[in-house]
Parts: sequence; structure tokens; C-alpha cells
Amino acid sequence: MGGTAAPTPGEMAGIVQQIRQTVRHHSTRFEVAIPLIASENLLSPYAKELLISDFHSRYAEGLPGERYYEGNEDVDRVENVCLGLARRLFRCSFADVRPISGTVANLAVLKAFAEPGDLVGTNRLANGAHISSASFGAFGLRGVKPVYYAWDEERMTIDVAKTREILKAVRPKLCLFGLSVFLFPQPIEELRSTLEEIGAKGWYDAAHVLGLIAGGQFQDPLREGATVISASTHKTLPGPQHGILLGGAPDEETVRRLQSAAFPGVTSNHHLHTMAALAVSLAEHIEFGRDYARQTIANAQALAQALYERGFEVLAPKLGFTRSHTIAVRVAREGGGETVAHRLADAGIITNKNLLPGDASPKHPQGIRLGTPELTRVGMTEKEMVRVAELFEMLLHQGRSTGEVREAATALKSPFTTIRYCFGAGESAYRYYDLVGRDPS
Ligand SMILES: *Cc1c(COP(=O)(O)O)cnc(C)c1O
Repeated sequence: MGGTAAPTPGEMAGIVQQIRQTVRHHSTRFEVAIPLIASENLLSPYAKELLISDFHSRYAEGLPGERYYEGNEDVDRVENVCLGLARRLFRCSFADVRPISGTVANLAVLKAFAEPGDLVGTNRLANGAHISSASFGAFGLRGVKPVYYAWDEERMTIDVAKTREILKAVRPKLCLFGLSVFLFPQPIEELRSTLEEIGAKGWYDAAHVLGLIAGGQFQDPLREGATVISASTHKTLPGPQHGILLGGAPDEETVRRLQSAAFPGVTSNHHLHTMAALAVSLAEHIEFGRDYARQTIANAQALAQALYERGFEVLAPKLGFTRSHTIAVRVAREGGGETVAHRLADAGIITNKNLLPGDASPKHPQGIRLGTPELTRVGMTEKEMVRVAELFEMLLHQGRSTGEVREAATALKSPFTTIRYCFGAGESAYRYYDLVGRDPS
């Protein structure tokens, strides 16, 4: 029985050791890198600690106080605190912290408010929408059909007048606002009366900008006409990889639909260790989030300006490039998104290729997307953003070698490896939890 799977002596211990070393190598690599992925961030020490707590080992289905299993008293306490902090931070009456990611939160909204065959308004992928809106993503899974908003390329946001006409003509049941290349606020307030007129619910996907909204530095969707916000909790909100649903003052039926969509609709257990970490991150954001959000945006604007001054084609120059944590750069002249992202990564600068408006092929996009959440989290400010732009210039315009740029990148990053904007600030931001230094055997 199972003869071919039987390990040789020491084989599996060796593999475990290899995995540990690879993850440690990864941590060290990021410690000296310039990470500019707009959707990534770093966890605070007090949040990180909970990821290896016993909460990880447990199940809690249902809502606090109404669980299906025994032993959940402390989980309930923490989840109630988490829910209270979420409602306080977003000034709303409804929160659900059971979706285990942003995509899962999106599926919950689709389950709550749309049926297969329904029309749902959204942005096109090439204009920055998330794959949730794609036929091969959550929309397709729920069987809903996208109705695309008109786009204003120069302003890098929805064309309100044209979109109004589309919505009135096609009358989708639900309208999703939100992007993965999220440079400027979405005009949900401007479209609010149209949504009311056609009887569509407003849905805001805040995965990227949740921390900016919470810090009072972006738009305020629940006051601007959104019935529900879905989001990831680990992008500009520097929390654990998890998801959340928020509602301003939904009626009982809406609450019931969202709650039953969250569980049992799209989750069973909801990853209690990450839920506990989220509670810590929400508390820390109430304390530190305003400053963090402000600096994150200031850094994105400074990076955009510095790249622009060095001849890079940063999008939306007339509008100041961005009002968020993200900037988009057309790098067709530098070799295209894929080549440029690879070359940057070789030099220790981590970015991603990205579709830009007008791009036909998702495999060969013209753009790269850059974000400042992580570099801000380790204490960098506008001054360092200029240095980051210089690294781009050295590598992509001045023909300096990959090795030389990597050395400069490491030198720039070295003083910025500890965490900021949280309790326990000053601890290593990239700490690897070493199991008492032992080898498995
Ligand atoms: C990242 C993202 C998501 C998905 O979040 P996960 O937590 O990775 O599942 C959803 N919507 C948008 C707009 C995103 O950018």
C-alpha cells in the first residue's frame, strides 16, 4: 500500500528544511528590495503574532453567539471587537468579517444581490477593473453579464455623461465601482441619481483603497451612494490577507442577504487567525491610519512627478497623476510592460506589468503599475521617492547595469526595514518566525 510514496530516510525532513529555507530566502530578498506592488503591504508585529496563534486551529461557523461548534467564546469576543472596530472606522452600521478575501467578498455581494443572467455595471479590465468583473472570474461564476461604463482616458476615470446614457438604456440591477488600477475616485455620487432612477444598487469594491478611505484621504462611498462595500483587508489597509463587507445603514433584508451570502454562501470557516489579526489592524488604523494614508498618497504623487520629470510617460499628468497610492506608467518606449517589469525585478525593484486603456493583449500590456503602500509602511517619504525614480532612470534610460542598479536599490532600502504606523513600530518588517533555530528530524 502506498509503496511508491514511501519516503527514503531523511527525505521529507529535507524537504521541510528546504521549504523553510526558501521562505526565509524570500523574506531576506524582500527586505533588501524596492517593493512597489500596489496591492501588497506589510503586517504589524501584533497582527502577525496572531497568525500563528491557536485561532488558526479552530472552526467558528455562523455569527458570534450563534455558532455551530462549542469552544468559540474567545473567538466570539475577538470577532465582536473586530466588527465594532470596523463599524467605527467606516462609520457604518453593518460589517461582516467572514469573507476570507476580496474576491470572496465580491462573490458574496453577487450572491446577495444578483441572479444568473442579471446585468451588472462595471469597468473594463483594460481600464483597470479587477478580474472579479471578468467572465472567467466572479462575474462568470455567478453567471451575471457585465455592462461596461464609458471611460475617459485622459482623466483615467468613468465618463459620467456617457455612462448615464448607457445605464438608462440598459438598466443593470447592480452597479460595481472600484478598480485595481485605482488612480482617481469613482463618480458614484455623480451617478447616484441615475442609479436611483433605474433602481440599481451601488456596490463599491474598495480592495485597493480601503485604507485610504478609512484614513479619510479618498472618497467616502457609503456617504456617496454605495449600499455595500466589499474589500480585501491587506492592500492600503495594512492588515492580514482577508476580506470584509460593509454597509452604511442597510435594511434588515439587505443585512440578511449579505450575511447569508457570507456564510453559508461563500465560506464555511472564516480563518479565525486572520480575523483576529484584522481586529488588531483595524485598531491600529484608527490610531495611525490618517497619517499613513496621507503619506502613502503623497509618496505616490512624488514618485509620479519624479518619474515624469525623468521622461517617463506617467498617465494623467494634467490631473496630477493620482489621488491614490497607485500610478500607471506607459512603458512602450522602454520595451513594454512585461520586459520592463522583468528588468526591474532583476534589479530588485518589484512591480507588475499592467493593461492600460487601449491595450488589446493581456499578455503584452504597455504598462506597469506602481504603488507606494509598502515603502510608506517602512518609513519612506517624498525624498526617497525621488531616489526610486532615479533607479528607474538608471536602469531604463541610462543603460546602467542591472547589478549596479540592484546595489543602489539595496543601499536605498537598507535603512528602511522596520515597520511604522502601528504599535510595535521599529520591529523588523520582514521578520521570519524561526522555530527555535532547529532542523526537523
Ligand atoms: C485585489 C482585488 C480584489 C481581490 O482581492 P483578493 O483579496 O486578492 O481576493 C478584488 N477587487 C479588486 C478591485 C482588487 O484590486
